Amino acid sequence: MKNPALALLGAAACVVLGLVAPLDDYLIKLLMQAATYAIAVLGLTIVLGYTGQISLAQAAFFGIGAYGVALGSTGLGLSFFAALALGTLLAGLFGVLLGGSTLKLGGHYLAMVTISFQEILTLVLTNWVGLTHGPDGVANIPRPTGLVAAPRYLALCLLVLFATAWAVGALKRRPLGLAMQAVRDNELAASVVGVNTYRVKIIAFALSALLGGLGGGLFAGAFRYISPDQFSFDDSVVLLTMALLGGVEAATGSVIGTALLVLLPEWLRFLRQFYLAVYGLAVILIMVFMPAGIWGFLAGLRPRRVAMPQPGGLVLGRAAGEGALLEVVGLAKHFGGLRAVDGVDLRVLAGEVHALIGPNGSGKTTTLNVLSGLYRPTGGSVRLAGREVAGHAPHLLAAAGLGRTFQNIRLFHSLTAFENVLIGAQAAGGAQAAERAAAALDFVGLADRAGAIAASLPYGHQRMVEIARALAGNPALLLLDEPAAGLNLTEKQALGQLLDRLRGLGVTLLLIEHDMDLVEQVADRITVLNFGKRIADGTPAEVLRHPEVVAAYLGEEAGHEFA
Ligand code: ADP
Ligand code: MG
Repeated sequence: MKNPALALLGAAACVVLGLVAPLDDYLIKLLMQAATYAIAVLGLTIVLGYTGQISLAQAAFFGIGAYGVALGSTGLGLSFFAALALGTLLAGLFGVLLGGSTLKLGGHYLAMVTISFQEILTLVLTNWVGLTHGPDGVANIPRPTGLVAAPRYLALCLLVLFATAWAVGALKRRPLGLAMQAVRDNELAASVVGVNTYRVKIIAFALSALLGGLGGGLFAGAFRYISPDQFSFDDSVVLLTMALLGGVEAATGSVIGTALLVLLPEWLRFLRQFYLAVYGLAVILIMVFMPAGIWGFLAGLRPRRVAMPQPGGLVLGRAAGEGALLEVVGLAKHFGGLRAVDGVDLRVLAGEVHALIGPNGSGKTTTLNVLSGLYRPTGGSVRLAGREVAGHAPHLLAAAGLGRTFQNIRLFHSLTAFENVLIGAQAAGGAQAAERAAAALDFVGLADRAGAIAASLPYGHQRMVEIARALAGNPALLLLDEPAAGLNLTEKQALGQLLDRLRGLGVTLLLIEHDMDLVEQVADRITVLNFGKRIADGTPAEVLRHPEVVAAYLGEEAGHEFA
């Protein structure tokens, strides 16, 4: 559903079909069910497919939309469309409340909370008889004037479906959609490139609930009678199966999956008592042989196109000033009794390359994690360009000019190299994100691999894409955690040159590295950590002769890997 013209054509065809073709009543009902369900399933494309959050309450939001239309029109006397808006917004509002209260927790909490919400809704619909009419349900739900005839109402449902599918498909390539996929692929990396992950997850959840409500509202008008048993946990599972079966990562997949699960029982009707067994088997077989769903399987067969602008020269807009860009005093991070970082002072001057070295486990990565906001410091102060930033959230630090890479590369693995870098550029804000991303990818020498899926790139290239992603965010200070680890000799030499060129751009570098040749080649100053404490600080010539440093490293060499 990437091509709007195609979607419109499809919508037009369906409307014509709905209006003129002599469909029998039963088929019309079936198509209405498929269309309204598919709208709700498109919500799952956003929340699960794009953002990677499991919601098991889509039938609840569908139910809220349906009851909004049913009670709004029969009870409050609203017009159909006013009632539809009410139901849809109500579902969206519950989405915001539910998402806002749980998405901070992460992990499987959302799945658990949505199951509970689903159960609570079923109980309310069944037992709050005064409001919902209880198990009897609501009958005589009106349709909009002019669209009362079934074929016309079907045309409305199909029109809304195609408009929704087009919008959801288009979202995938927009900044918000890319941010969602970044959260799905690697939430930690998304946060340090500047994505407000909590906000993105809430928006995804709210949009999903909204679409659930919209589908449910249209469903109520389609069948004109609703009851609590139509919006149970089982139905949420059915909606989830539809999304997964068709391919949850694309709007087209959701539509295919829904159509298939609504129609499959009809096609299998001739099997009589064996129908359910064959139905179940068919679903299992599809999922086993096409784990990415039917559309995921088909889409995987053709190469991805990338629309990358012609790369120009990379210009970073935060020229380093004078004095200390980063001033760290008494920084501490304790994990229970373990003092991983224990009162470290660190002063990084603008425009310099500062190396942070030390044996394995000496607290280097933990220091970086605190500096980039992934860990809250146990104590100490961190000033970036004169501003106190200790304990600030990662995306705020990114906005303040901090970029970083990870010791164990963290890319958005299912996205292209260009999209990875683009997300870094977009989160930094400002116009011309695509141009900046293209320039950053070109800067690390990978403009010709723009369309390659990140996970498929060789290790050395992945390191470079990660550096480009950080650069596209326009950092004043770039933190690199062992960039030479795992690189071969040629790649290490290229990295050395890249670091020199970075300095030429005016980026200040804080570099963790255990390749001493590289450190001596590029570093202006070196800080040495051991057991979470600073044991030396100064120019390479001073530091590498320092007796404590020599001792720490000799001890290391006698024992284990030098790091
Ligand atoms: P380095 O990067 O210098 O090799 P790290 O900063 O990764 O060292 O680790 C320093 C110490 O902190 C190690 O003993 C490590 O096991 C511990 N550590 C790091 N992260 C955590 C964590 N999240 N929880 C508990 N201990 C941790
Ligand atoms: Mg480390």
